[in-house]
Amino acid sequence: MGALIDGKAIAAGIREDVAKEVAALKSEHGFTPGLAVVLVGEDPASQIYVRNKGKMTEEAGMNSFTHRLPADATQDQVEALLETLNNDDSVDGILLQLPLPKHLDEASAIERISPNKDVDGLTEASAGRLSLGKKGIRPCTPAGCVILAKSALGDDLSGKNVVVIGRSILVGKPAALLFLEQNCTVTIAHSRTKDLGEVCRQADILVAAVGRPKMVPAEWVKPGACVIDVGINRIPAPEKGEGKTRVVGDVDFAACKNVAGQITPVPGSVGPMTIAGLLVNTVTAAKLRRGL
Ligand code: NDP
Repeated sequence: MGALIDGKAIAAGIREDVAKEVAALKSEHGFTPGLAVVLVGEDPASQIYVRNKGKMTEEAGMNSFTHRLPADATQDQVEALLETLNNDDSVDGILLQLPLPKHLDEASAIERISPNKDVDGLTEASAGRLSLGKKGIRPCTPAGCVILAKSALGDDLSGKNVVVIGRSILVGKPAALLFLEQNCTVTIAHSRTKDLGEVCRQADILVAAVGRPKMVPAEWVKPGACVIDVGINRIPAPEKGEGKTRVVGDVDFAACKNVAGQITPVPGSVGPMTIAGLLVNTVTAAKLRRGL
């Protein structure tokens, strides 16, 4: 059986480092970084994410501000709130929890976030810096995937064949660019990819970011490959009781763990790395804004 990549422990270590840095910023420079999270509507999964983000932000010694808008909030209300946060000196990072309710224009809202405070790395400015290879704030989930791959394979990933399944702006595309930055040979697969299994079997590092429960079977995994499962899918779990559900990834973990060299469990690997990355990005944004 392949080794488990313990993203939970790696993320806990990163959060400890963040807490130390926050304490040093307080004592040496007299400020406390602050993260504002904006939640529109009542999506149950988003509520849990937002609560966790707030809790971990506070545990790291930072200020956490949560702003909730009703599900029927208008585009103007959302954008006005983002503008207020852009101008609020106590806020170093702004995270707009996605997805937004269907009637809102997500792309337009994201663009209202000041690039200096874009800790999710999703604005055109941040995405442009990533694709140009310039320094900047990187999206948290894809950055977490690179850290997990390095934890499994060592710091030098150059020459590795990476296959990323999924080309979303949030995960797939930036993940591909971040692995390219590590000198990997990267293939991006998506819903129109032909012979997906054959493509995946070429991967030394296989990243699944699709949103389809257990879609990657063991036959798609090259023996010994490093498998990173980003997917979060809720499926019925009658064994836990009527109406109960459980979370599974995009990878058939039970089957693939016997073929992979290293593999991330779901839940508990990429998810915690995403939050840790958010805290790192908030501290980075706070320092950059003050010229540190
Ligand atoms: P999107 O729905 O935005 O993108 C899904 C991608 O998968 C698309 O590029 C799509 O291709 C591709 N795809 C869909 N069906 C297939 C298929 N049959 N074969 C190959 N590719 C396919 O999802 P996200 O990128 O936002 O999220 C992906 C998953 O990651 C979700 O489960 C989400 O919950 C999870 N996630 C987890 C996070 C974490 O912290 N762990 C953070 C963010 C997301 P096409 O472009 O052609 O339509």
